[in-house]
Amino acid sequence: MDPTTIAAATAAIKPTLDIISGVIAIAEQSKDVTIKEKMLPLRENIITLRECISSLREENLSLHEEIKSLKKKLENSSKLKFKNNVLYDGDDPNPYCPVCNSTIDKLVRLTNTSHKFYQCGKCKNTFSTNMSFISGEDDSYGDRVAYRGH
Ligand SMILES: [Zn+2]
Repeated sequence: MDPTTIAAATAAIKPTLDIISGVIAIAEQSKDVTIKEKMLPLRENIITLRECISSLREENLSLHEEIKSLKKKLENSSKLKFKNNVLYDGDDPNPYCPVCNSTIDKLVRLTNTSHKFYQCGKCKNTFSTNMSFISGEDDSYGDRVAYRGH
């Protein structure tokens, strides 16, 4: 919900409560018990509505933050490219761990251990960017991934 809509609802509560309080005061002055008894639950309902709006405002803020976070995450993930068994982040030439990216949702840079072999410092898996290495290797991470799990 647009925060201005919630602000408008909140702004409408105060004058409504003032009107009800005014009617209750008039009812008390004129000793009109019937009007006063009808207005008291109305005031309680408006107060309950104010509390509901407050809760909705907090939930709305939280949801907006979550949407913002998810958009950023989506934007970042769309930059990732899977190539030769590892992930690349946009134009960054350094390879990143595809296992950590899929399991713990983190971008962990791989360390070059030998020619075309990389290791993840987090999950300790090793990856070969040499495509001929694929045959006979553990392919549990999709059909295209060659890595030695630990
Ligand atoms: Zn890893």
